[in-house]
Amino acid sequence: GYNRVLEIHKEHLSPVVTAYFQKPLLLHQGHMEWLFDAEGNRYLDFFSGIVTVSVGHCHPKVNAVAQKQLGRLWHTSTVFFHPPMHEYAEKLAALLPEPLKVIFLVNSGSEANELAMLMARAHSNNIDIISFRGAYHGCSPYTLGLTNVGTYKMELPGGTGCQPTMCPDVFRGPWGGSHCRDSPVQTIRKCSCAPDCCQAKDQYIEQFKDTLSTSVAKSIAGFFAEPIQGVNGVVQYPKGFLKEAFELVRARGGVCIADEVQTGFGRLGSHFWGFQTHDVLPDIVTMAKGIGNGFPMAAVITTPEIAKSLAKRLQHFNTFGGNPMACAIGSAVLEVIKEENLQENSQEVGTYMLLKFAKLRDEFEIVGDVRGKGLMIGIEMVQDKISCRPLPREEVNQIHEDCKHMGLLVGRGSIFSQTFRIAPSMCITKPEVDFAVEVFHSALTQHME
Ligand code: PMP
Repeated sequence: GYNRVLEIHKEHLSPVVTAYFQKPLLLHQGHMEWLFDAEGNRYLDFFSGIVTVSVGHCHPKVNAVAQKQLGRLWHTSTVFFHPPMHEYAEKLAALLPEPLKVIFLVNSGSEANELAMLMARAHSNNIDIISFRGAYHGCSPYTLGLTNVGTYKMELPGGTGCQPTMCPDVFRGPWGGSHCRDSPVQTIRKCSCAPDCCQAKDQYIEQFKDTLSTSVAKSIAGFFAEPIQGVNGVVQYPKGFLKEAFELVRARGGVCIADEVQTGFGRLGSHFWGFQTHDVLPDIVTMAKGIGNGFPMAAVITTPEIAKSLAKRLQHFNTFGGNPMACAIGSAVLEVIKEENLQENSQEVGTYMLLKFAKLRDEFEIVGDVRGKGLMIGIEMVQDKISCRPLPREEVNQIHEDCKHMGLLVGRGSIFSQTFRIAPSMCITKPEVDFAVEVFHSALTQHME
């Protein structure tokens, strides 16, 4: 029963890992965009296992491929070859522009970014790496240096060689905003413009130059960026910012890394990869989450030149990376995205959803911002639209709970956990969006009463 689960959880599972809701959900089954608890209640899953179940829970085609592979071969390690790996590598490489054609298969986003850090350092012969405030690139000791979002961050003894730089946040603006847990600045003013007309872009570029010219970062190894920040609450950058930043980084000998862990595989709709929405070509691309629809797998893709720089330095090994199960599932996911036109669906349903949620911003004083692209949407809750102070956590928790009671699961993000994150499986439909908007509307109305 449920109480026994709670007991076991308390006794044997680490308290460092937190769960949503005062009474966490105990889920038993999933089918496409729906989840079911033990009592048979169903929930529309608008967070897809933290932006991971890209094509739907237990998708029949992915399941059939997984079951076939399960009966054939599970594991070989990387010292032997097997067809699913080579078939997958060919399919994945075809989705990236030249010269991004060399693939390293690993098991999680943190591992992928660890490897990308190694590559950047091996290739550039430099140490220092820049990432944004508010960035989330993993929680392994190496990637913690890159991660700069609130409570996930820990300073490691001896330092990490990583330097945070101002996040070019279109909503919050550069004037006194902060993504730091310890910052005294709790009142955050907003910039209030759209990515394609953001007045603050040049100001952000000046800030970026300042970071580059500080002593630790004079000659840098690399620069990491999520095309849209996920954990930080779906934060978007001004149009053209990344392009200029990439040029500045390359002029100092660094390589540019796009972390596509959340933004890749068609989620943003208009493009298959998030970096394409910024019109940039990274030197290294990392991916995880949606790549395996929930099966643990991840990848790093780079140029032959950078791959060679790493191979010259060391032998790299990963027992599970590219195992037959993961590769067979990865191939099936890519086929489903194509056959079912899921990228097009992200674009169409995502645009529809953004417009519908944006209406809530006009109606409710506490909805400060509705933003995003495709099926990656953030709804930032504020005390009022003038100060844009984050709505207190307990109040956001209540709205979150109320959505759950009405059968809608959404995610959370931002430094004060004030942003609802929406990222359903890419098979989501317009009637389901209508249901979600209705639920959200009711939860907000209840809150205002
Ligand atoms: N990069 C990004 C952008 C992420 O959102 C995450 C996970 N939230 C990671 C990397 C780390 O992935 P993992 O949890 O698989 O290590």
